[in-house]
Amino acid sequence: MLAETTEAFDASAALCYSVSSLNRYGEKRKDTEWVKSLRDLPETRFLIQANDGFIFNKEATFEPSLHSAKVLEQLDIANGTTIFLGLDENDGDRPYFAVRYEADADSLEAELEKQGPYAAYGLRGVAMKNAASREVLGMMAQAAAVGRWHVSHQMCSKCGEPTNVADAGYRRDCPSCSAQHFPRTDPAVIMLITHGDKCLMGRPYQLAEGVYTTLAGFVEPGETFEDAVRREVFEEAGVKVGKVTYIASQPWPFPSNIMVGFHGEALTTELDIDYDEMEDCQWFSKEETLKMIRGEAESGLICPPDISIAHQLIKIFTEE
Ligand SMILES: [Zn+2]
Repeated sequence: MLAETTEAFDASAALCYSVSSLNRYGEKRKDTEWVKSLRDLPETRFLIQANDGFIFNKEATFEPSLHSAKVLEQLDIANGTTIFLGLDENDGDRPYFAVRYEADADSLEAELEKQGPYAAYGLRGVAMKNAASREVLGMMAQAAAVGRWHVSHQMCSKCGEPTNVADAGYRRDCPSCSAQHFPRTDPAVIMLITHGDKCLMGRPYQLAEGVYTTLAGFVEPGETFEDAVRREVFEEAGVKVGKVTYIASQPWPFPSNIMVGFHGEALTTELDIDYDEMEDCQWFSKEETLKMIRGEAESGLICPPDISIAHQLIKIFTEE
């Protein structure tokens, strides 16, 4: 739902997966008749996910990932899970749904081509190629996170019996032990640590060559975000952090995270790098960092692309 931001940084203006013009109507999802009546409206549009790929109409010029119910019939999706995404307040309350189905990955491409001008693209690729508007990317993030949860929570975690979809796709109920299961969102903190005119960036081993980025890590049970920031930075780089300031958050549905972004002020500068996790950590001057995010550093080093909250946390520091 579009909300007035009270944050220092308007995430929905800058971050992909953070924009949504949908009112999710969480309080009305239980009304199955209401949800069904929305699903049957001619103006309703569907995001269709085959495994982890979104189906695109390669010939459509306007939002090629949004489909009418006709396409659902055409693709003959028997084992799909339907998820109510919400009503678009910017478009006369147009309803949006997601349908996720599991397909044979080896034959999917050929099957789609048989049905029409369709192809499946992963969410990261869609964002990197600007193949969907920010609003649609936000819907895709919602659909991807909830859809993946259904795939991995078919069985009850209490008694092991199969569970059924409820609440328009936002709950799974166990008919055997009556347990109710809800989609998860796992928070991770991501932080740019600064000391005066310098910032701390590092390279986890899996990062592409030449990229330096903010430190990050999962929040542990029973831990505040602020303490998670301090703990992760000390573990990875040996730096003690004092003041921690919230900047913005970004849904990161790979598979079900939310990145909670901070700036933190370092109390110490000496590095003690955890080489089990990090290939390197370094302090960079503001001037060098600015060149890196612009791709103009003589060293050839760069920062992550602007779809990520890491990029935005770094950019804000360089503009201060
Ligand atoms: Zn159960």
